[in-house]
Amino acid sequence: MGADSNHIATDVIILGAGINGCGIATELAQSGLNVVVLEKHTIGSGTSSKSSRLIHGGLRYLEQFEFGLVREALLDRQELLRRYPQLVKLKPFYLPIYKSSPRPAWMIWCGLKLYDLLTGRQSQSKSRIVNRSLFSDIAPQLKQDDLTAVFQYYDAKTDDLLLTQTVAEDAQSYGAVIHQFTIANSITHSDDLYTVSTNRGSFFAPILINASGPWIDEVNREFDLQARYRIRKISGIHVIFKGLLTQDLMFMQTAEKRIFFIIPEPENNQTIIGTTEREETVDIDAVRVSPDDVDYLLNQLNIYLKNEHRVTADDIKSFYIGVRPLIAYKEKPTDLSREYILDHHQFGNAHLVHVFGGKLTTYLSLARKVKRLLEKKVL
Ligand SMILES: Cc1cc2nc3c(=O)[nH]c(=O)nc-3n(C[C@H](O)[C@H](O)[C@H](O)COP(=O)(O)OP(=O)(O)OC[C@H]3O[C@@H](n4cnc5c(N)ncnc54)[C@H](O)[C@@H]3O)c2cc1C
Repeated sequence: MGADSNHIATDVIILGAGINGCGIATELAQSGLNVVVLEKHTIGSGTSSKSSRLIHGGLRYLEQFEFGLVREALLDRQELLRRYPQLVKLKPFYLPIYKSSPRPAWMIWCGLKLYDLLTGRQSQSKSRIVNRSLFSDIAPQLKQDDLTAVFQYYDAKTDDLLLTQTVAEDAQSYGAVIHQFTIANSITHSDDLYTVSTNRGSFFAPILINASGPWIDEVNREFDLQARYRIRKISGIHVIFKGLLTQDLMFMQTAEKRIFFIIPEPENNQTIIGTTEREETVDIDAVRVSPDDVDYLLNQLNIYLKNEHRVTADDIKSFYIGVRPLIAYKEKPTDLSREYILDHHQFGNAHLVHVFGGKLTTYLSLARKVKRLLEKKVL
């Protein structure tokens, strides 16, 4: 990497220090490339700190036949459990089925068995049917009448911001340089180089990777970057309640066939409830939590809590909102895939790679695919 006052030449510039930008930086720096990450705010301050904090295959995506995505995420989950045992922990999840549940128990059971199968031989813990009297001991706060079945399965829980910061530290340990509070003013390219001019100087590299998450369309528009895809901006909120509403994680269904999680965090003496889905038309930085979203989650939760455990707005500690960058090719937000696409463009010897979509869980696979793509096209 060459530095001439505020003119820095490097091998790769990555825009965005979310989980994907940091994961790609780790992968590329580890393979010997000089990598600079430019982040307009702080590491992990975007969607990567606004998630449900689950490292999961995504049981729900089986309904959309996304077997490849679920399998990839489950393999990444295994690796993350091994790599960051203090940060990514396997937990039992309970899935109570009530008479009013929109999906029958047999369907959920088949889904869970498929989930076990996709987890593969490393599966530490297979899903199972839970005796209802045992469930009333496990979750005494939840209604027990009208239960038709209860299932238990396993997935992992993390702290999304801490995970992203840890991956950023890994990248830095391999030599990547991350510049926070760095705002791009212009992005141009010649036949050899991309130039990103920022408030902290100019950066030059033959490879530019756009990992700006849900900001991607706005970045492409502002800097006139060519792209083959667009995203739909689907926001989701989480409400944090004081104290533990249940001891274990719960996967709940709504009458409209949506789902929400009850996610107790004993380490913070709080419970996270989420999430919602709303299509956003405003710029990402203008997206805000709406009172309707909070009411929706409060009402859904109270449907399942026994009267003496019902919650009100006074029990809310805080809430947060994030925007999923989902690739825009289906109608209903719930049906939009959580998959990701790498969109490569070449101008002479200058290369641009956009990262469209992706989950927290799949950043490892995504980063490796970026490396393979660059090996094929550039290196
Ligand atoms: C409600 C919700 C729940 C979710 N739950 C889960 C879950 O439980 N498990 C899971 O696996 N996934 C989950 N996801 C998905 C996951 O959080 C995201 O897909 C992932 O965090 C995206 O990471 P990213 O690095 O692509 O984007 P981001 O984390 O948003 O990072 C992009 C970064 O780019 C920066 N940036 C933007 N513009 C510029 C610019 N011009 N210059 C420099 N920097 C710029 C931003 O500041 C930001 O830090 C959830 C998402 C949402 C919204």
